[in-house]
Amino acid sequence: MLTSRPPFGQVPTRSNISGTALKPKLLVLNAGSSSLKFKIFGVEPLVAGMGGMFDRIGDSANCTLKASAPDPLGGKARKWELKLPASDHTSALQEILGFISENVSGSFSREVVAVGHRVVHGLDISAPVLLDTAAIDRIREAAVFAPLHNPAGLQGIEAAQRVFEGVPQVAVFDTAFHATMPPYAYVYGIPYELYDKHQIRRYGFHGTSHKYLVDQAAAMLGKSVSETNVITCHLGNGSSVAAVQNGRCVDTSMGMTPLEGLLMGTRCGDVDPAVVLHIESQLGLSAKETDNLLNKKSGLLGVTGSSDLRAVIEAAHKGEARAQLGLDMLVHRIKKYIGAYTAVLGGKVDAVIFSAGIGENSSLLRGLVLEGLQGLGMEVDSELNQQAVGGRQGDISAPGSRVKLLVIPTDEELSIAQQTLQVVGTGSTNAAAGAGAMAA
Ligand code: AMP
Repeated sequence: MLTSRPPFGQVPTRSNISGTALKPKLLVLNAGSSSLKFKIFGVEPLVAGMGGMFDRIGDSANCTLKASAPDPLGGKARKWELKLPASDHTSALQEILGFISENVSGSFSREVVAVGHRVVHGLDISAPVLLDTAAIDRIREAAVFAPLHNPAGLQGIEAAQRVFEGVPQVAVFDTAFHATMPPYAYVYGIPYELYDKHQIRRYGFHGTSHKYLVDQAAAMLGKSVSETNVITCHLGNGSSVAAVQNGRCVDTSMGMTPLEGLLMGTRCGDVDPAVVLHIESQLGLSAKETDNLLNKKSGLLGVTGSSDLRAVIEAAHKGEARAQLGLDMLVHRIKKYIGAYTAVLGGKVDAVIFSAGIGENSSLLRGLVLEGLQGLGMEVDSELNQQAVGGRQGDISAPGSRVKLLVIPTDEELSIAQQTLQVVGTGSTNAAAGAGAMAA
């Protein structure tokens, strides 16, 4: 087990480890306030290896590391669950490293050529960036809009900088894919100075997933990304929809924060802002209490008593009226966004894509959403719809459907790995790594 940073004689790069027995690897990290998810990728070619999660960091009696690794021969995945102490993200990362060294590759710490980090909010940064002081300052600045997520992301970055000193680190932002939205889609109808001086605007989230879905859809449609027009529905505990024209996001349902848009597991999605004022002034809730109510106690949970769609569907089947109401609300809102985004795309929609926990697994929900959308050229094949579950990719459109209806399992880690590799380049030295662009 490692207790300190492994000794690097030389910063690993793809050139200085080629010709040795070492195999270049990427490490993808996704840090939460008390958790650290990781996934390893082989670089040549880009292939996913072990992944896992360190949970309850700081709670030494209950810290757990769960990991699984695919069997290279295609058999059952190997799984681990261990109790390991970690007082902070740095010690969690060191434990992860020790674990990987014992179970995957003893040379892992010398094989990592880049680390890719998921960062939730990047303001108007439009591409992944090589982490330097300016980029870190920008992530800190954006924490005002993501007060739980960005500081956690920074903890992961600081841990990786300590543990992998000198190895290039890249931030991939949930907001970046949406940076192409036109101002009329992202400016709110409130005094312009609030945008100009305080950066209050729509940013959008789940961008890594939406980008991945667009790339996959283009491949399935046999088109280049730049000529692909789709509506991507990332439907999970958190949900968002994006309108994508010529491969670029032109609108999305989440806003300045992930609270806006669809009805979610515990978030309310779209509400009249006057509701918030009314709750505060008439019911006497503080801003913090209202924030908690809208983010953690609303959505499916608030309406039905459960945030889990499986439980909601089961209760609705048993005739529980509130569960049926929650399900109907969820379906109604997704339909509304598909209709609105069809109009935003001028009716030229190549495909509607369903993804994430709900979109990939609930044929019932997909069927309900698509019911009655024949007028928009969307016709589902109910048998194909039933079959596309459990992480299976599929085209569920009926033969005559003008718009393709696709189920695509999302893979945010793979997308982060791909984008990290694009930043550090296929070149040989980390010094050659390019930084991403800032949007105007
Ligand atoms: P995610 O946040 O992407 O992990 O998605 C979580 C959501 O997916 C939860 O609301 C789950 O209830 C939902 N989900 C997962 N599997 C199914 C399923 N077979 N049917 C309905 N909902 C599902």
